[in-house]
Amino acid sequence: MGMMINPATLYVVATPIGNLDDITFRALHVLKSVDWIAAEDTRHSAHLLEHYQIKTSMVSFHEHNEEMQQRKVLGALSNQQSVALISDAGTPLVSDPGYHLVRAAVQEGFSVVPIPGACAAIVALSAAGLPSDRFIFEGFLPAKQHARVQRLEAIREELRTLIFYESPHRILALLQDMLQVLGEERRVVIARELTKLYETIHSDRLVDVLAWMTAHHEQQCGEFVVLVEGYEEGKKIAAEDERILKTLLKELPLKQAVRLAAVLTNKPKNALYELALKL
Ligand code: SAM
Repeated sequence: MGMMINPATLYVVATPIGNLDDITFRALHVLKSVDWIAAEDTRHSAHLLEHYQIKTSMVSFHEHNEEMQQRKVLGALSNQQSVALISDAGTPLVSDPGYHLVRAAVQEGFSVVPIPGACAAIVALSAAGLPSDRFIFEGFLPAKQHARVQRLEAIREELRTLIFYESPHRILALLQDMLQVLGEERRVVIARELTKLYETIHSDRLVDVLAWMTAHHEQQCGEFVVLVEGYEEGKKIAAEDERILKTLLKELPLKQAVRLAAVLTNKPKNALYELALKL
């Protein structure tokens, strides 16, 4: 497929999530060649366009003017123009505006062409070390605590790896609510400031992640992806865990062996206790 820009086409273009180098040749070509760029925040995106010396005209397209701007974009498409949709960072429509526009463009028979690139959730998953064969994206949980806890309760027994987005002013509250609903033992990965100067990927049990973040104020700044292992994963006792438990049981009373095994394996005490009784 060559680098042709087609008329009457909506290009959905992923942009970097921090490091400006994380953009594809194809994305740059499309942004240079389309008639319009519909940007979530034109001032924010001006920085990216300047960096790559892209002079294409921008129109603003955010959640508060989405409906009105949608008609303009569809109008441009009917006039055989091409439009690129971008958001402030990453892939449009992923916790970002654009869904209604893309749906309308599809319904009205325009071509919609995705130009792939960064998405914070996938970037985080690729380095988290949690099961990645199956996962679910929860995006932002509700801002109000009651609704947030309810949502966490609804997904408490989800088996797949869970991926959340969170902002710096709610990150501690999110982890506190997670601790309350999901318990201490779940493995959690905090992926902060991905692709940026202070990129941090920190993995530990939920209770320890919360303690670590509470103790280190600088870890509460920036942008976050929070990944949580699925329900069963943490409870599964692997062969290696069983070996550790057996070794400890040979030397120590049951309760003590279980307690130590929990520390060494990061597995829940009750599951280890059940296994110890069987052994
Ligand atoms: N469309 C974007 C994407 O594809 O990832 C997400 C936009 S959403 C409004 C912004 C949220 O994405 C942030 O609050 C944070 O949870 C996550 N995020 C974006 N960039 C990030 C980065 N560099 N490091 C960690 N999280 C990031």
